[in-house]
Amino acid sequence: MMKIFVFLGAPGAGKGTVASRIAEQGDALHVSTGAMLREAVKNGTPAGLAAKSYMDKGALVPDPVLLDMIGELLADAPADAELLFDGFPRNETQAEQLEALVRKHGATVARAICLDVPETVVLRRLGGRRVCPVCGMVFHVETLPPKQAGVCDGCGNPLAIRDDDKPETIKRRLEVYAAKTEPLIAWYEKTGKLRHVDASGEVDASVALVRDAMAD
Ligand code: AMP
Repeated sequence: MMKIFVFLGAPGAGKGTVASRIAEQGDALHVSTGAMLREAVKNGTPAGLAAKSYMDKGALVPDPVLLDMIGELLADAPADAELLFDGFPRNETQAEQLEALVRKHGATVARAICLDVPETVVLRRLGGRRVCPVCGMVFHVETLPPKQAGVCDGCGNPLAIRDDDKPETIKRRLEVYAAKTEPLIAWYEKTGKLRHVDASGEVDASVALVRDAMAD
């Protein structure tokens, strides 16, 4: 049966970094709706055109765009896939619709794992974040530097600052997180599937704690 792990936590908590490490080390697939949307914007697809103005403001992209993307992904995924959802669901409507999609595709949400990080750490991480616009690999100037400054370890292309990592947009994204996404922690708590993980330390430590939470 297809198994979904939902990663919750503020922007900058490390959802993408941890999910991509776990995916690299095994058979699970990292599903980042943010990365899928950035790719759609880059390619000028209809979903990308619909999403861009919301992303630039740090707002949530309308639910139907996301639900189409996730519906297609589940329809195409192998029946025994293990999917690590990073950035979806992001509000209660999406969480409810995910349950409907899960039933339709014979999948299950196995766990929701909340990566807990204090706001001071989140702000430091987002401020120093650098990303590869070509392969999507994520770095941090102080805590997770590339081997050569400004160059992607994975594909050798120049690193960039994400458009929405500007200070004003970071502030807006954190407000949106608190208003819309944080209530999902209580939502998943009620399902009995929620696990909390302290993700304020080094990447390797967070990866190990998340793996334990996935398996317990
Ligand atoms: P992320 O890479 O997860 O920080 O996502 C970057 C941006 O993509 C967000 O600030 C939103 O504008 C948009 N986005 C990603 N996932 C979702 C989602 N599940 N619902 C709405 N908007 C999303």
